[in-house]
Amino acid sequence: MKKHLLFLGPPGAGKGTQASLISELNSYLHLSTGELLRQEVKMNTNLGVQVKEIINSGELVDDSLVLEIVKKNLISNNKGWILDGYPRNLSQANSLNTVLNELNQSLEIVFYLDLNEDILVERLLKRGRTDDNEKTIRTRLEIYKETTRPLINFYESQNILEYIEGNRDLKIISDDIRQKMAL
Ligand code: ADP
Repeated sequence: MKKHLLFLGPPGAGKGTQASLISELNSYLHLSTGELLRQEVKMNTNLGVQVKEIINSGELVDDSLVLEIVKKNLISNNKGWILDGYPRNLSQANSLNTVLNELNQSLEIVFYLDLNEDILVERLLKRGRTDDNEKTIRTRLEIYKETTRPLINFYESQNILEYIEGNRDLKIISDDIRQKMAL
């Protein structure tokens, strides 16, 4: 059974939903950088104040800030974990490798959850988070295509990438994921 998982894919593909399901079933840590950043904003912490505008514009938060959050959470964990929304660019992917080496852990499987762009936009507009307006969604999709999507090749070349079709029933998708992580 794989214990160190990563979800990759465009905003709105269902990464968070699947990561929550799988982490609950296995008692793994669900580490969503977006969720953790939103909590900081909500609690009005120093970090939250720093990142609020960036999040609401759809741009990426500074790599070093996000790395601190990831480190802090991975260090205190000893079961399994699921990364969701991190890494989002090559520099973050390299930092993650360094951190995992230091912790003597390694990423075992990357689920690439994909979905047609029209459906993505439709879903995000329905979701209605404060950063889910048409303009921000376009920005996030562009950033995804330019800086995050190249990570697919990065992980494919390490032979740990599994493609998951996101335009299916939620339960069918999670069964598919569970089967693949059991191998
Ligand atoms: P979505 O998958 O719908 O884009 P997330 O919850 O993953 O939503 O992220 C929301 C926002 O949080 C992003 O648009 C970005 O501003 C910030 N964020 C999340 N993860 C990262 C990251 N790894 N690096 C930089 N910024 C991030």
